[in-house]
Amino acid sequence: MAELECAIGLEVHAELSTATKIFCGCKNEFGAAPNTHVCPVCLGLPGTLPRLNSKVCDYAVKMGHALGCKINNVSHLDRKNYFYPDLPKAYQISQSEIPICGRGSLDIMVDGEICSVGITRIHIEDDAGKLIHDDDFAGTLCDYNRCGFPLIEIVTEPDIRSSREAYVFLETIRSILRYIDISDCKMQEGSIRCDVNVSVHEKGTPLGERCELKNVNSFSAAVRGIEYEIKRQTDIISSGIKVERETRRWDDKKGISTIMRTKENMQDYRFFPEPDLGDIVLDAERIEQLRGEIPELPNRKMIRYVTEHGMNCDAAFTIADSPDKAALYDECVALGKCKPRSAANRILGDVTKFMNDTGRSISDTPLTADNLSELCAAAENGIISSTGAKLVFNELLTQGGDVSEIIERLGLAQNSDDGFLNDIADRVIAENEKSVCDYMNGKKNALGYLVGQAMKLSTGKAAPAKLKSMIENKIKKEN
Ligand code: ADP
Ligand code: MG
Ligand code: ZN
Repeated sequence: MAELECAIGLEVHAELSTATKIFCGCKNEFGAAPNTHVCPVCLGLPGTLPRLNSKVCDYAVKMGHALGCKINNVSHLDRKNYFYPDLPKAYQISQSEIPICGRGSLDIMVDGEICSVGITRIHIEDDAGKLIHDDDFAGTLCDYNRCGFPLIEIVTEPDIRSSREAYVFLETIRSILRYIDISDCKMQEGSIRCDVNVSVHEKGTPLGERCELKNVNSFSAAVRGIEYEIKRQTDIISSGIKVERETRRWDDKKGISTIMRTKENMQDYRFFPEPDLGDIVLDAERIEQLRGEIPELPNRKMIRYVTEHGMNCDAAFTIADSPDKAALYDECVALGKCKPRSAANRILGDVTKFMNDTGRSISDTPLTADNLSELCAAAENGIISSTGAKLVFNELLTQGGDVSEIIERLGLAQNSDDGFLNDIADRVIAENEKSVCDYMNGKKNALGYLVGQAMKLSTGKAAPAKLKSMIENKIKKEN
Protein backbone atom coordinates (compact mmCIF):
# COMPACT_ATOMS: atom_id res chain seq x y z
CA MET A 1 0.00 0.00 0.00
CA ALA A 2 1.20 3.51 -0.80
CA GLU A 3 2.15 5.78 2.05
CA LEU A 4 -0.83 7.11 4.02
CA GLU A 5 -1.35 10.77 4.75
CA CYS A 6 -3.94 12.57 6.90
CA ALA A 7 -6.06 15.66 6.30
CA ILE A 8 -7.42 17.75 9.13
CA GLY A 9 -10.02 20.51 9.10
CA LEU A 10 -10.95 22.50 12.19
CA GLU A 11 -14.10 24.30 13.27
CA VAL A 12 -13.09 26.76 15.98
CA HIS A 13 -15.71 28.49 18.13
CA ALA A 14 -14.65 31.61 19.99
CA GLU A 15 -16.80 33.55 22.43
CA LEU A 16 -16.68 37.26 21.70
CA SER A 17 -16.06 39.70 24.54
CA THR A 18 -18.86 42.17 23.78
CA ALA A 19 -20.55 43.81 26.78
CA THR A 20 -23.97 42.32 26.01
CA LYS A 21 -25.35 39.20 24.35
CA ILE A 22 -25.90 38.79 20.60
CA PHE A 23 -29.70 39.27 20.42
CA CYS A 24 -30.70 40.95 23.73
CA GLY A 25 -29.36 43.37 26.32
CA CYS A 26 -28.37 40.74 28.91
CA LYS A 27 -24.79 40.87 30.16
CA ASN A 28 -22.25 38.72 28.36
CA GLU A 29 -20.40 37.74 31.51
CA PHE A 30 -18.92 34.47 32.69
CA GLY A 31 -19.30 33.25 36.26
CA ALA A 32 -22.54 34.90 37.40
CA ALA A 33 -25.00 32.98 39.63
CA PRO A 34 -27.05 30.56 37.47
CA ASN A 35 -29.95 32.06 35.51
CA THR A 36 -29.33 35.66 36.59
CA HIS A 37 -28.30 36.98 33.15
CA VAL A 38 -31.44 35.92 31.28
CA CYS A 39 -34.50 37.58 29.77
CA PRO A 40 -37.49 36.48 27.67
CA VAL A 41 -35.46 36.87 24.44
CA CYS A 42 -32.48 34.68 25.35
CA LEU A 43 -34.79 32.22 27.11
CA GLY A 44 -36.61 31.83 23.80
CA LEU A 45 -40.05 32.65 25.18
CA PRO A 46 -42.81 32.85 22.52
CA GLY A 47 -43.64 36.32 21.21
CA THR A 48 -40.20 37.84 21.78
CA LEU A 49 -38.09 39.36 19.04
CA PRO A 50 -34.29 39.26 18.76
CA ARG A 51 -32.24 42.35 17.83
CA LEU A 52 -28.72 41.90 16.46
CA ASN A 53 -25.86 43.45 18.49
CA SER A 54 -23.85 45.33 15.84
CA LYS A 55 -20.61 44.91 17.83
CA VAL A 56 -20.80 41.20 17.09
CA CYS A 57 -20.64 41.96 13.37
CA ASP A 58 -17.74 44.37 13.87
CA TYR A 59 -15.78 41.75 15.80
CA ALA A 60 -16.47 39.06 13.19
CA VAL A 61 -15.39 41.40 10.39
CA LYS A 62 -12.18 42.20 12.28
CA MET A 63 -11.38 38.51 12.52
CA GLY A 64 -12.22 38.21 8.83
CA HIS A 65 -9.66 40.89 8.02
CA ALA A 66 -7.10 39.21 10.28
CA LEU A 67 -7.52 35.97 8.33
CA GLY A 68 -7.58 37.66 4.93
CA CYS A 69 -11.22 36.74 4.30
CA LYS A 70 -13.54 38.17 1.73
CA ILE A 71 -16.10 40.18 3.72
CA ASN A 72 -19.67 39.81 2.51
CA ASN A 73 -21.52 43.14 2.33
CA VAL A 74 -24.77 41.27 2.71
CA SER A 75 -25.17 38.09 4.73
CA HIS A 76 -28.07 36.60 6.61
CA LEU A 77 -28.97 34.56 9.65
CA ASP A 78 -30.51 31.09 9.60
CA ARG A 79 -32.20 28.85 12.11
CA LYS A 80 -30.47 25.58 12.88
CA ASN A 81 -33.17 23.47 14.46
CA TYR A 82 -32.55 20.81 17.07
CA PHE A 83 -33.85 19.95 20.50
CA TYR A 84 -31.62 19.79 23.53
CA PRO A 85 -32.34 20.96 27.10
CA ASP A 86 -29.56 23.57 27.01
CA LEU A 87 -31.30 25.30 24.07
CA PRO A 88 -34.71 26.63 25.18
CA LYS A 89 -35.51 28.16 21.74
CA ALA A 90 -35.01 24.69 20.19
CA TYR A 91 -32.96 26.34 17.44
CA GLN A 92 -29.63 28.09 17.20
CA ILE A 93 -29.42 31.28 15.18
CA SER A 94 -26.42 30.81 12.93
CA GLN A 95 -25.40 31.51 9.34
CA SER A 96 -25.74 28.77 6.77
CA GLU A 97 -25.58 29.75 3.09
CA ILE A 98 -24.02 33.21 3.28
CA PRO A 99 -21.69 33.80 6.23
CA ILE A 100 -20.40 37.24 7.22
CA CYS A 101 -16.86 36.32 6.05
CA GLY A 102 -15.95 34.08 3.14
CA ARG A 103 -12.65 32.60 2.00
CA GLY A 104 -9.32 33.58 3.45
CA SER A 105 -6.07 32.03 4.56
CA LEU A 106 -3.68 32.09 7.48
CA ASP A 107 0.09 31.66 7.37
CA ILE A 108 1.44 29.93 10.44
CA MET A 109 4.98 29.01 11.35
CA VAL A 110 5.38 25.37 12.29
CA ASP A 111 8.85 24.43 13.54
CA GLY A 112 10.53 26.93 11.25
CA GLU A 113 8.40 26.24 8.16
CA ILE A 114 5.64 28.52 6.92
CA CYS A 115 2.34 26.68 6.27
CA SER A 116 -0.69 28.28 4.72
CA VAL A 117 -4.08 27.10 6.01
CA GLY A 118 -7.16 27.92 3.94
CA ILE A 119 -10.07 29.50 5.79
CA THR A 120 -13.42 28.42 4.42
CA ARG A 121 -15.58 30.93 6.27
CA ILE A 122 -16.30 32.75 9.51
CA HIS A 123 -19.87 33.07 10.70
CA ILE A 124 -21.65 34.42 13.77
CA GLU A 125 -24.07 32.51 15.99
CA ASP A 126 -25.46 32.33 19.52
CA ASP A 127 -24.20 30.00 22.22
CA ALA A 128 -26.40 27.55 24.13
CA GLY A 129 -26.79 27.26 27.90
CA LYS A 130 -24.94 24.89 30.17
CA LEU A 131 -26.11 21.65 31.71
CA ILE A 132 -24.81 20.98 35.19
CA HIS A 133 -24.50 17.59 36.76
CA ASP A 134 -24.28 18.02 40.51
CA ASP A 135 -23.40 15.16 42.85
CA ASP A 136 -26.03 16.36 45.34
CA PHE A 137 -28.82 16.28 42.80
CA ALA A 138 -30.07 13.27 40.91
CA GLY A 139 -31.27 15.18 37.82
CA THR A 140 -29.68 17.65 35.44
CA LEU A 141 -29.58 21.37 36.21
CA CYS A 142 -29.85 24.03 33.50
CA ASP A 143 -27.99 27.34 33.60
CA TYR A 144 -29.20 29.57 30.76
CA ASN A 145 -26.78 32.47 31.39
CA ARG A 146 -24.69 31.39 28.39
CA CYS A 147 -27.70 31.35 26.02
CA GLY A 148 -27.08 34.15 23.57
CA PHE A 149 -23.38 34.64 24.27
CA PRO A 150 -22.01 35.72 20.88
CA LEU A 151 -19.77 33.26 19.03
CA ILE A 152 -17.81 33.26 15.84
CA GLU A 153 -17.12 29.95 14.15
CA ILE A 154 -13.97 29.79 12.06
CA VAL A 155 -13.98 26.88 9.59
CA THR A 156 -10.76 25.77 7.90
CA GLU A 157 -10.19 23.87 4.70
CA PRO A 158 -8.84 20.33 5.22
CA ASP A 159 -5.32 21.71 4.68
CA ILE A 160 -3.77 20.71 7.99
CA ARG A 161 -1.47 17.69 7.78
CA SER A 162 -0.45 16.85 11.36
CA SER A 163 -1.53 17.23 14.97
CA ARG A 164 1.43 19.59 15.43
CA GLU A 165 0.18 21.86 12.63
CA ALA A 166 -3.30 21.80 14.17
CA TYR A 167 -1.86 22.79 17.54
CA VAL A 168 0.11 25.70 16.09
CA PHE A 169 -2.96 26.80 14.09
CA LEU A 170 -5.08 26.89 17.26
CA GLU A 171 -2.36 28.70 19.21
CA THR A 172 -2.09 31.26 16.40
CA ILE A 173 -5.86 31.80 16.29
CA ARG A 174 -5.90 32.38 20.04
CA SER A 175 -3.03 34.81 19.79
CA ILE A 176 -4.79 36.76 17.00
CA LEU A 177 -8.10 36.90 18.92
CA ARG A 178 -6.22 38.48 21.83
CA TYR A 179 -4.31 40.90 19.61
CA ILE A 180 -7.43 42.29 18.03
CA ASP A 181 -9.08 42.17 21.43
CA ILE A 182 -12.32 40.42 20.52
CA SER A 183 -12.18 37.42 22.87
CA ASP A 184 -10.88 36.56 26.35
CA CYS A 185 -9.67 33.20 25.08
CA LYS A 186 -9.97 31.65 28.52
CA MET A 187 -9.84 27.94 27.80
CA GLN A 188 -10.98 26.96 31.29
CA GLU A 189 -14.08 29.13 30.80
CA GLY A 190 -14.72 27.49 27.45
CA SER A 191 -14.18 30.70 25.47
CA ILE A 192 -12.48 28.73 22.69
CA ARG A 193 -13.70 25.29 21.67
CA CYS A 194 -13.12 23.27 18.55
CA ASP A 195 -14.41 20.35 16.52
CA VAL A 196 -11.78 18.34 14.74
CA ASN A 197 -12.29 16.61 11.37
CA VAL A 198 -9.79 13.93 10.45
CA SER A 199 -9.39 11.67 7.42
CA VAL A 200 -6.65 9.42 6.08
CA HIS A 201 -5.85 8.74 2.41
CA GLU A 202 -3.10 7.26 0.25
CA LYS A 203 -0.61 9.91 -0.79
CA GLY A 204 -1.46 11.32 -4.22
CA THR A 205 -5.12 10.21 -4.08
CA PRO A 206 -8.22 12.26 -3.12
CA LEU A 207 -8.92 12.85 0.57
CA GLY A 208 -10.48 10.02 2.55
CA GLU A 209 -13.87 9.91 4.28
CA ARG A 210 -13.73 12.00 7.45
CA CYS A 211 -14.74 11.60 11.05
CA GLU A 212 -15.64 14.58 13.17
CA LEU A 213 -14.54 14.62 16.81
CA LYS A 214 -16.75 16.46 19.29
CA ASN A 215 -16.06 17.33 22.92
CA VAL A 216 -12.48 18.46 22.35
CA ASN A 217 -11.96 20.86 25.23
CA SER A 218 -8.34 21.98 24.97
CA PHE A 219 -5.62 22.38 22.39
CA SER A 220 -3.68 19.48 23.87
CA ALA A 221 -6.84 17.34 23.76
CA ALA A 222 -7.11 18.23 20.05
CA VAL A 223 -3.58 16.89 19.53
CA ARG A 224 -4.38 13.66 21.39
CA GLY A 225 -7.71 13.24 19.58
CA ILE A 226 -6.09 13.74 16.18
CA GLU A 227 -3.27 11.28 16.93
CA TYR A 228 -5.79 8.70 18.09
CA GLU A 229 -8.01 9.19 15.07
CA ILE A 230 -5.10 8.96 12.58
CA LYS A 231 -4.03 5.69 14.17
CA ARG A 232 -7.58 4.31 14.29
CA GLN A 233 -8.28 5.16 10.65
CA THR A 234 -4.84 3.97 9.48
CA ASP A 235 -5.53 0.60 11.11
CA ILE A 236 -8.93 0.37 9.41
CA ILE A 237 -7.54 1.27 5.97
CA SER A 238 -4.54 -1.01 6.37
CA SER A 239 -6.83 -3.95 6.99
CA GLY A 240 -8.60 -3.21 3.71
CA ILE A 241 -11.80 -1.75 5.17
CA LYS A 242 -13.31 1.63 4.24
CA VAL A 243 -13.61 4.37 6.85
CA GLU A 244 -17.24 5.45 7.31
CA ARG A 245 -18.32 9.05 7.79
CA GLU A 246 -19.01 9.42 11.51
CA THR A 247 -19.37 11.89 14.32
CA ARG A 248 -17.39 10.66 17.31
CA ARG A 249 -17.07 11.79 20.90
CA TRP A 250 -13.55 12.32 22.21
CA ASP A 251 -13.01 11.08 25.76
CA ASP A 252 -9.81 12.78 26.83
CA LYS A 253 -9.56 10.98 30.18
CA LYS A 254 -9.72 7.56 28.56
CA GLY A 255 -7.85 8.71 25.45
CA ILE A 256 -10.36 7.17 23.05
CA SER A 257 -13.10 8.30 20.64
CA THR A 258 -16.46 6.57 20.56
CA ILE A 259 -19.18 6.69 17.94
CA MET A 260 -22.02 9.23 18.36
CA ARG A 261 -23.67 9.26 14.93
CA THR A 262 -23.14 7.47 11.63
CA LYS A 263 -23.88 8.78 8.14
CA GLU A 264 -27.36 7.23 8.25
CA ASN A 265 -28.44 9.04 11.38
CA MET A 266 -26.63 12.35 10.79
CA GLN A 267 -28.68 15.16 12.23
CA ASP A 268 -30.82 17.14 9.81
CA TYR A 269 -30.99 20.66 11.18
CA ARG A 270 -33.63 21.85 8.70
CA PHE A 271 -31.88 25.17 8.20
CA PHE A 272 -34.17 27.99 7.12
CA PRO A 273 -33.80 31.78 7.03
CA GLU A 274 -34.37 33.40 10.41
CA PRO A 275 -37.68 35.21 9.87
CA ASP A 276 -37.31 37.60 12.80
CA LEU A 277 -34.07 39.23 11.64
CA GLY A 278 -33.28 41.03 8.40
CA ASP A 279 -30.17 40.80 6.26
CA ILE A 280 -26.88 41.94 7.76
CA VAL A 281 -25.77 44.82 5.56
CA LEU A 282 -22.29 46.27 6.02
CA ASP A 283 -21.32 49.38 4.13
CA ALA A 284 -17.91 49.51 2.50
CA GLU A 285 -16.77 52.38 4.70
CA ARG A 286 -17.40 50.45 7.89
CA ILE A 287 -15.59 47.40 6.52
CA GLU A 288 -12.58 49.55 5.61
CA GLN A 289 -12.57 51.32 8.94
CA LEU A 290 -12.43 47.95 10.72
CA ARG A 291 -9.59 46.87 8.44
CA GLY A 292 -7.65 49.90 9.60
CA GLU A 293 -7.97 48.75 13.22
CA ILE A 294 -5.97 45.56 12.61
CA PRO A 295 -2.36 45.84 13.83
CA GLU A 296 0.52 43.71 12.57
CA LEU A 297 -0.53 40.26 13.79
CA PRO A 298 1.49 37.76 15.82
CA ASN A 299 1.82 35.19 13.01
CA ARG A 300 3.37 37.88 10.76
CA LYS A 301 5.62 39.05 13.58
CA MET A 302 6.74 35.53 14.30
CA ILE A 303 7.56 34.87 10.65
CA ARG A 304 9.48 38.16 10.52
CA TYR A 305 11.46 37.41 13.69
CA VAL A 306 12.46 33.95 12.47
CA THR A 307 13.18 34.71 8.82
CA GLU A 308 14.62 38.24 9.15
CA HIS A 309 16.11 38.32 12.66
CA GLY A 310 17.27 34.70 12.86
CA MET A 311 15.35 34.13 16.10
CA ASN A 312 14.48 30.56 17.05
CA CYS A 313 10.81 29.59 16.85
CA ASP A 314 10.12 29.32 20.57
CA ALA A 315 11.68 32.70 21.29
CA ALA A 316 9.83 34.27 18.37
CA PHE A 317 6.53 32.84 19.57
CA THR A 318 7.06 34.00 23.17
CA ILE A 319 7.70 37.56 22.03
CA ALA A 320 5.14 37.69 19.21
CA ASP A 321 2.34 36.14 21.29
CA SER A 322 2.42 39.03 23.76
CA PRO A 323 1.44 42.43 22.34
CA ASP A 324 3.41 44.01 25.19
CA LYS A 325 6.65 42.15 24.57
CA ALA A 326 6.38 42.46 20.80
CA ALA A 327 5.85 46.23 21.01
CA LEU A 328 8.86 46.59 23.29
CA TYR A 329 11.04 44.45 21.02
CA ASP A 330 9.94 46.14 17.79
CA GLU A 331 10.59 49.55 19.32
CA CYS A 332 14.08 48.56 20.50
CA VAL A 333 14.89 47.30 17.00
CA ALA A 334 13.57 50.53 15.46
CA LEU A 335 15.68 52.65 17.83
CA GLY A 336 18.78 50.73 16.72
CA LYS A 337 20.77 51.52 19.88
CA CYS A 338 21.53 47.89 20.69
CA LYS A 339 21.67 44.55 18.90
CA PRO A 340 18.18 43.07 18.33
CA ARG A 341 19.46 39.87 19.93
CA SER A 342 20.34 41.60 23.23
CA ALA A 343 16.90 43.22 23.38
CA ALA A 344 15.26 39.85 22.64
CA ASN A 345 17.27 38.09 25.34
CA ARG A 346 16.46 40.73 27.92
CA ILE A 347 12.74 40.45 27.03
CA LEU A 348 12.77 36.63 27.09
CA GLY A 349 14.58 36.68 30.43
CA ASP A 350 14.02 39.57 32.82
CA VAL A 351 10.90 41.04 31.20
CA THR A 352 9.12 37.69 30.88
CA LYS A 353 10.01 36.79 34.45
CA PHE A 354 8.61 40.09 35.71
CA MET A 355 5.37 39.63 33.76
CA ASN A 356 4.96 36.02 34.92
CA ASP A 357 5.76 36.79 38.55
CA THR A 358 3.55 39.84 38.89
CA GLY A 359 0.90 39.36 36.20
CA ARG A 360 1.51 43.00 35.32
CA SER A 361 2.19 44.47 31.92
CA ILE A 362 5.27 46.50 31.01
CA SER A 363 3.15 49.48 30.09
CA ASP A 364 2.34 50.13 33.75
CA THR A 365 6.01 50.29 34.72
CA PRO A 366 8.45 53.11 33.92
CA LEU A 367 10.48 50.77 31.67
CA THR A 368 10.59 52.02 28.07
CA ALA A 369 12.11 50.71 24.85
CA ASP A 370 14.50 53.64 25.01
CA ASN A 371 16.00 52.89 28.41
CA LEU A 372 15.91 49.12 27.81
CA SER A 373 17.99 49.68 24.65
CA GLU A 374 20.44 51.86 26.59
CA LEU A 375 20.79 49.12 29.17
CA CYS A 376 21.38 46.46 26.49
CA ALA A 377 23.98 48.67 24.80
CA ALA A 378 25.80 49.25 28.11
CA ALA A 379 25.95 45.49 28.70
CA GLU A 380 27.05 44.83 25.09
CA ASN A 381 29.87 47.33 25.37
CA GLY A 382 31.15 45.91 28.63
CA ILE A 383 30.32 49.06 30.56
CA ILE A 384 28.38 46.99 33.08
CA SER A 385 28.59 43.31 34.04
CA SER A 386 25.65 40.93 33.72
CA THR A 387 25.01 41.29 37.46
CA GLY A 388 25.13 45.04 37.07
CA ALA A 389 22.69 44.84 34.17
CA LYS A 390 20.17 43.06 36.37
CA LEU A 391 20.43 45.78 39.01
CA VAL A 392 19.92 48.48 36.40
CA PHE A 393 16.94 46.56 34.98
CA ASN A 394 15.27 46.41 38.39
CA GLU A 395 15.86 50.11 38.85
CA LEU A 396 14.29 50.85 35.44
CA LEU A 397 11.27 48.71 36.30
CA THR A 398 10.62 50.37 39.64
CA GLN A 399 11.96 53.92 39.32
CA GLY A 400 12.76 54.43 35.66
CA GLY A 401 15.37 57.02 34.80
CA ASP A 402 18.48 57.48 32.79
CA VAL A 403 20.67 54.39 32.36
CA SER A 404 24.05 56.13 32.59
CA GLU A 405 22.92 58.06 35.65
CA ILE A 406 21.81 54.80 37.34
CA ILE A 407 25.11 53.10 36.47
CA GLU A 408 26.99 55.96 38.04
CA ARG A 409 24.74 56.29 41.10
CA LEU A 410 24.95 52.55 41.86
CA GLY A 411 28.69 52.51 41.10
CA LEU A 412 28.29 49.76 38.52
CA ALA A 413 30.56 51.02 35.77
CA GLN A 414 33.23 48.52 34.85
CA ASN A 415 36.71 49.81 34.36
CA SER A 416 38.31 48.71 31.10
CA ASP A 417 41.20 51.14 31.29
CA ASP A 418 44.41 49.37 30.15
CA GLY A 419 46.58 50.73 32.93
CA PHE A 420 44.04 49.83 35.65
CA LEU A 421 43.57 46.28 34.37
CA ASN A 422 47.31 45.82 33.83
CA ASP A 423 48.09 46.63 37.47
CA ILE A 424 45.48 44.21 38.73
CA ALA A 425 46.64 41.45 36.41
CA ASP A 426 50.24 41.92 37.58
CA ARG A 427 49.23 41.81 41.23
CA VAL A 428 47.10 38.73 40.94
CA ILE A 429 49.81 36.84 39.05
CA ALA A 430 52.44 37.81 41.64
CA GLU A 431 50.22 36.82 44.58
CA ASN A 432 49.03 33.46 43.22
CA GLU A 433 52.12 31.56 42.08
CA LYS A 434 50.55 28.17 42.70
CA SER A 435 47.52 28.81 40.53
CA VAL A 436 49.70 30.21 37.76
CA CYS A 437 51.76 26.98 37.91
CA ASP A 438 48.59 24.87 37.86
CA TYR A 439 47.38 26.71 34.80
CA MET A 440 50.72 26.18 33.06
CA ASN A 441 50.48 22.49 33.89
CA GLY A 442 47.22 22.22 32.05
CA LYS A 443 44.67 22.91 34.77
CA LYS A 444 42.52 25.21 32.69
CA ASN A 445 40.13 26.08 35.50
CA ALA A 446 42.93 27.73 37.43
CA LEU A 447 42.43 30.69 35.12
CA GLY A 448 38.88 31.11 36.33
CA TYR A 449 40.17 31.25 39.91
CA LEU A 450 42.74 33.89 38.98
CA VAL A 451 40.12 36.02 37.22
CA GLY A 452 37.88 35.70 40.28
CA GLN A 453 40.69 36.88 42.57
CA ALA A 454 41.42 39.74 40.19
CA MET A 455 37.77 40.81 40.14
CA LYS A 456 37.85 40.87 43.94
CA LEU A 457 40.98 43.00 43.90
CA SER A 458 39.16 45.45 41.61
CA THR A 459 36.15 45.39 43.96
CA GLY A 460 34.08 44.15 41.03
CA LYS A 461 34.88 47.14 38.88
CA ALA A 462 37.13 45.52 36.28
CA ALA A 463 35.69 44.58 32.88
CA PRO A 464 35.90 40.79 33.24
CA ALA A 465 36.38 39.67 29.63
CA LYS A 466 39.22 42.08 29.00
CA LEU A 467 40.79 41.31 32.37
CA LYS A 468 40.66 37.59 31.65
CA SER A 469 42.43 37.83 28.32
CA MET A 470 45.02 40.15 29.83
CA ILE A 471 45.86 37.67 32.61
CA GLU A 472 45.97 34.80 30.14
CA ASN A 473 48.29 36.65 27.78
CA LYS A 474 50.62 37.71 30.59
CA ILE A 475 50.99 34.17 31.92
CA LYS A 476 51.67 32.80 28.45
CA LYS A 477 54.21 35.53 27.72
CA GLU A 478 56.04 35.26 31.02
CA ASN A 479 56.37 31.49 31.05
P1 ADP B 1 -20.29 19.98 8.12
O1 ADP B 1 -21.25 21.01 7.66
O2 ADP B 1 -20.81 18.62 8.11
O3 ADP B 1 -19.63 20.34 9.42
P2 ADP B 1 -18.31 21.04 6.36
O4 ADP B 1 -18.26 20.88 4.88
O5 ADP B 1 -18.70 22.35 6.91
O6 ADP B 1 -19.17 19.91 6.99
O7 ADP B 1 -16.86 20.70 6.88
C1 ADP B 1 -16.55 20.79 8.18
C2 ADP B 1 -15.05 20.59 8.37
O8 ADP B 1 -14.64 19.34 7.86
C3 ADP B 1 -14.17 21.62 7.68
O9 ADP B 1 -13.24 22.10 8.62
C4 ADP B 1 -13.50 20.86 6.58
O10 ADP B 1 -12.19 21.33 6.34
C5 ADP B 1 -13.42 19.49 7.17
N1 ADP B 1 -13.32 18.46 6.13
C6 ADP B 1 -14.08 18.33 5.02
N2 ADP B 1 -13.68 17.25 4.33
C7 ADP B 1 -12.66 16.66 5.01
C8 ADP B 1 -11.84 15.51 4.81
N3 ADP B 1 -11.99 14.73 3.76
N4 ADP B 1 -10.90 15.26 5.74
C9 ADP B 1 -10.73 16.03 6.81
N5 ADP B 1 -11.48 17.11 7.05
C10 ADP B 1 -12.42 17.44 6.18
MG1 MG C 1 -19.65 21.51 11.12
ZN1 ZN D 1 -31.36 38.07 27.40
